[in-house]
Amino acid sequence: MLELKNIDTYYGNIQALYDVNLYIDHGEIITLIGGNGAGKSTTLMTICGVLDPRRGSVTYEDMDITGMSAEKVVARGICQVPEGRLIFPELTISENLDMGAFLRSDKDGIKHDREYAYELFPILYERRRQMGGNLSGGEQQMLAIARALMARPRLLLLDEPSMGLAPLIVRQIFDIITKINKESGTTIFLVEQNANLALKIGHRGYVMENGKIVLTDTCDTLLANEDVKRAYLGL
Ligand code: ATP
Repeated sequence: MLELKNIDTYYGNIQALYDVNLYIDHGEIITLIGGNGAGKSTTLMTICGVLDPRRGSVTYEDMDITGMSAEKVVARGICQVPEGRLIFPELTISENLDMGAFLRSDKDGIKHDREYAYELFPILYERRRQMGGNLSGGEQQMLAIARALMARPRLLLLDEPSMGLAPLIVRQIFDIITKINKESGTTIFLVEQNANLALKIGHRGYVMENGKIVLTDTCDTLLANEDVKRAYLGL
């Protein structure tokens, strides 16, 4: 479905990604783990058209999307839930969801997806008339995911959904990510510092250090890997 080949991405003169290669197949949950500043967000921004790599290619559904604008990438079915969530605080929850569907005109489909989003996150239905800014951190993360689903993505990119949230809420959100993948077949690319949980819900994983992919395997194998245990699982 998606392939990154030999990607080098820079911020000005500073190189952030070095020869990154990875692929995502249809229906998979792929996790990318790594410490602070490893290059995880840069990888996501390179996929979704915010950053243009200096070398290498991004191929999606057999189409070269390297350097394509973010808007065109979204129109092709790739949707990112950014780190820090970035919901609209002055809009109601219901209006926030509408914003997720702004490229669509299929009224029945939008209605169906809104109902599905509320079914996944009943708390958002209860609070649908409240302002986004009044939600707790966990609820804002839920809203950000629900809003992304309103674009009916085929590939959902999640940037550290656990960030700053209590363990119980994180578990709830990760259960819902699994549910979305199972029920709608949405392919998921999950970028996380919470390696333990991310590797538990992922099918395959990549480990990134200093802008390079240093390890890749099934998540079960990565969970059992001594280096991963020591560096990322605190064991
Ligand atoms: P975090 O979990 O802290 O977000 P990350 O793995 O997502 O980490 P990136 O944000 O992709 O890491 O950062 C990769 C490298 O690029 C880091 O060395 C970082 O300092 C650098 N970097 C990130 N954004 C910029 C920028 N706007 N300008 C210059 N360098 C940047």
